[in-house]
Amino acid sequence: MANLRLYAVFGNPIAHSKSPLLHNYVFYKLGIDARYIRYHLETSDNFRDLFFNLNLSGANITLPFKESLIESCDEIRGIAKEINAINTIVREDSKLIGYNTDATGFYQNIFKFNIKNALIIGAGGSAKAIAYILKENNIKVSIINRSEPNLKDFRIRGFECHLSSEFKYQDYQFDLVVNATSSSINNVLPLSPSMLESIFRDSKIAFDLMYGKECKFLELAKKSNLRVIDGSKMLLYQAIFASSLFLNINNEKISKAMSEIYNTD
Ligand code: NDP
Repeated sequence: MANLRLYAVFGNPIAHSKSPLLHNYVFYKLGIDARYIRYHLETSDNFRDLFFNLNLSGANITLPFKESLIESCDEIRGIAKEINAINTIVREDSKLIGYNTDATGFYQNIFKFNIKNALIIGAGGSAKAIAYILKENNIKVSIINRSEPNLKDFRIRGFECHLSSEFKYQDYQFDLVVNATSSSINNVLPLSPSMLESIFRDSKIAFDLMYGKECKFLELAKKSNLRVIDGSKMLLYQAIFASSLFLNINNEKISKAMSEIYNTD
């Protein structure tokens, strides 16, 4: 027991998180002496003390702490620096290193398709991660949002942005259309049906970040004969990349183990 490593996912709410299931199964399959727990976090204050008091080796961070816990890290690596949000922390001796595997988790779903341009609907935290990873891979990105405030940061960083109500969609063609809004949680469309149908007419792939239930956005995309992808694989891949960082072993072994249980609840 002395060498047992402990990991946790922090968020609020957190009861729904599948991360313990995925990570503990990897530990079990690979014979690693480690456990992964859920932790309901009330505030990001004193997170460092909490992390070290629990003697954690690593953590995942979910809503609403992905931005605020950056301050608790000694160093931020990779695309997390651009996005300004982390979902993974790895302990290196007395240092905490922050990473973002949401972005790479998303990209893993689509890298094999020949995508040249993408429309992101929504301008929240996930939209930012997706916009950066697409841009990093030379995919032209346009962002639309129902209101102005969240677009501001994208504009400052040079992304092409539009208010949804003012977007002249007839002038564009997108290979990939991503619903990065939380509209599907409420079972509503992020744009009017006629606008979406028109955008889908010339598109190839529709991606909705939500997972776990059917959504109107992908239903409509299916009717327009698009390839549809939901957020479940994004969740899986971000966990694979995080586990690879925790254990410092290659993605392939972890991927094999996690994929075995992914669809069993
Ligand atoms: P945020 O709260 O940061 O952003 C929400 C965005 O959705 C904003 O742009 C908001 O617009 C827009 N929005 C909300 N409701 C509507 C609506 N009815 N119509 C149009 N736009 C709307 O959320 P996140 O970016 O963190 O998350 C977005 C979604 O992605 C959630 O469903 C979340 O569950 C999912 N997600 C999935 C992951 C996965 O692994 N599959 C990982 C992370 C997130 P405004 O700026 O005007 O308020």
